[in-house]
Amino acid sequence: MANHVQSFDAISNTMLTVTVREQERSFTSHLDVICGVSSYFTKRLKGRQDANLNAITLDDVRPAVWITFLDWAYGRQTIDDLYSADREFEEHRVHLTELYIFADKYDVPALRQHIVDYFFVDLKAYQDEEADTFWRPTPIPKCIELAFRSLSSTSPLCRLFVDRFCVNFLNNITDNDNQQMFEREDLPLEFCMGVIHRHAHLRHAMIEGNMEVDYELNLGDYHEHGPDEDISKCSCQDTHDEDYYEESYYDGSYYDGF
Ligand SMILES: [Zn+2]
Repeated sequence: MANHVQSFDAISNTMLTVTVREQERSFTSHLDVICGVSSYFTKRLKGRQDANLNAITLDDVRPAVWITFLDWAYGRQTIDDLYSADREFEEHRVHLTELYIFADKYDVPALRQHIVDYFFVDLKAYQDEEADTFWRPTPIPKCIELAFRSLSSTSPLCRLFVDRFCVNFLNNITDNDNQQMFEREDLPLEFCMGVIHRHAHLRHAMIEGNMEVDYELNLGDYHEHGPDEDISKCSCQDTHDEDYYEESYYDGSYYDGF
């Protein structure tokens, strides 16, 4: 996946003004910077000679999402930097989910991957030595709702939400977090089905002896690597949960049929 930060040495002076909904705010940026990360905008804008080339309107994008996208595309902010912005814990994650949905619709694969990397670590269970507690985070319901409403249930972010929920699942449905989650009326059916299929699939693998009860996830299962891509330097090569989970288990089969 190409590095999204381009040198200005290689960027043309052609500018693009994008008007997004809500207050009809307009933002002007370099066409090459936008097209360099998005095949959607490349197809729509590159090589066009007509008068509308330099100004387009996007009806379904909020200004906050477009601003974050620009900050990221210009290399001003990484996904980690975004956390220091003026957003609370939940608001930050909802914003990232919205950004992922934008990156799905407007085809910005590098941004999708950065957001998946963020959630992969953010939702990982961890030991809090000081509090002597083992935390098992669950995805925020609003994020689940947004993701499943706007994305395919087989998209990496939806799969990650299901898989992290399952790997962090406590012993039964009446455990506090699980119960609160399933009592919500706005929890998407596709998410619930994903959890059921995932648990059934894993249970089968455990009974067959192909999998430990205490299993871990692989970040690479949520990356969209092309067949010819050199993944040796990809972030997924050194971001595994634990070493004892030897090889990728995910084969996607439990998402078939719903
Ligand atoms: Zn990767």
